[in-house]
Amino acid sequence: MKVIDIIKGEKPSLSFEIFPPKTSDKFEKVKAAADEIADLKPSFMSITYGAGGGTSQYTASIAAEVAAQGVTPLAHLSCISSTKEMVKEQLNLLKEKGIENILALRGDIVAGTDISLCDYHYASELAAEIKDFGGFCIGGACYPENHPESKNSREDIEHLRLKCEAGCEFLTTQMFFDNNVLYNFMYRALKGGVDVPIVAGIMPVTSAAQIKRICSISEAALPQRFLRIVDRYGDDPAAMKQAGIAFATEQIIDLYANGINAVHVYSMNHPDVARAIKNNLSEIIK
Ligand code: FAD
Repeated sequence: MKVIDIIKGEKPSLSFEIFPPKTSDKFEKVKAAADEIADLKPSFMSITYGAGGGTSQYTASIAAEVAAQGVTPLAHLSCISSTKEMVKEQLNLLKEKGIENILALRGDIVAGTDISLCDYHYASELAAEIKDFGGFCIGGACYPENHPESKNSREDIEHLRLKCEAGCEFLTTQMFFDNNVLYNFMYRALKGGVDVPIVAGIMPVTSAAQIKRICSISEAALPQRFLRIVDRYGDDPAAMKQAGIAFATEQIIDLYANGINAVHVYSMNHPDVARAIKNNLSEIIK
C-alpha cells in the first residue's frame, strides 16, 4: 500500500520507526524488534538508511521483513554519499522486494566532503530520480524549526516547495517538542506553496542521555515544561521513561485534536516504547 493513501485517509494514522543494524551480527536482534513493533499493527513503519550521510545495506531487508508481517514499510534512502549507480541499485533492490514507499533524503554532509564532487547535492534531485524510475510513493523530510543549514524559514520553505515539485508527495517532520512550533510551520508552509500532507514526527524522550543526542542532531527547542521533567526524572531511568512516554502521548493527543491526522513516532528500535504509546492511544485511534 502507498503511504500517501494511508495518511490521506479519514482515520488518524500512527506509524513507528526502526533503524537497521550496522553489522550482520545485529541483524537478528533488529529483525526481532521490527517484528514486535509490526505486531502492534501501526499504520506503516519507516526504516532508516545510514547515518551521518552514510549508506545501509540492511534497510531493504528490514523493510521486506516488515512487509512480511503485514505492515506497510517506508524505506528511507539518502543520496549524499552515493553515486547514481548506487542509487539505481538500491531502487532496483527495493522494487525487487516489493517495497512501494521511499523517504527521499539528502543525508548529512560529512565534514571535509567536497560537495561539488558528489553526484547529488539536495534531496530534490533524488526525489526527481525516483519519480523518473517510477512505481514508488515518495516522501521527504521537513524541519518545523528550519534545517540547520538554511538561512531563514522563507528560503527553507521554498526549497521544500521545489522538493515537492520534484516528486515528494508528503513530508515527515523533524522531531519537535512544542506543538505550536508545528502549527506555525504548517501555516508558513501552506502560505509558501507547500500543500502536501505533513506527517508530524514525535520523539518520546525516555532517557536523559537522549537529550544530548537530540541537541546534536536537531535544532529542536526544548520547552521549559519538558526541561523540568528531565531535571526532575533524568537520574531515575524508569521514571524518566514513564514521563517521556506520557509527554509524547500528550503531544500526540493534542495533534490529533487539532486535526493533524498523521503522527510518526521515532520509536528507535524500542518495541516497549511503541507499545506503551499505542496502548495510551487505544481508544483514540481505534
Ligand atoms: P534537503 O531537502 O536537500 O535540504 C538540505 C538543505 O539544503 C536545507 O537547508 C535546504 O533548505 C537546502 N536546499 C534544498 N534544496 C536547495 C537548493 N535547490 N538550493 C539551495 N539549498 C537547497 N538521515 C539519514 O542519513 N538517514 C535517514 O534515514 C534519515 N531519515 C530522516 C528522516 C526525517 C523525517 C528527517 C527529518 C531527517 C532524516 N535524516 C536522515 C536526516 C537528513 O538526512 C538530514 O537532516 C540532512 O541534513 C538533510 O536532508 P534533507 O533530505 O532534508 O535535505
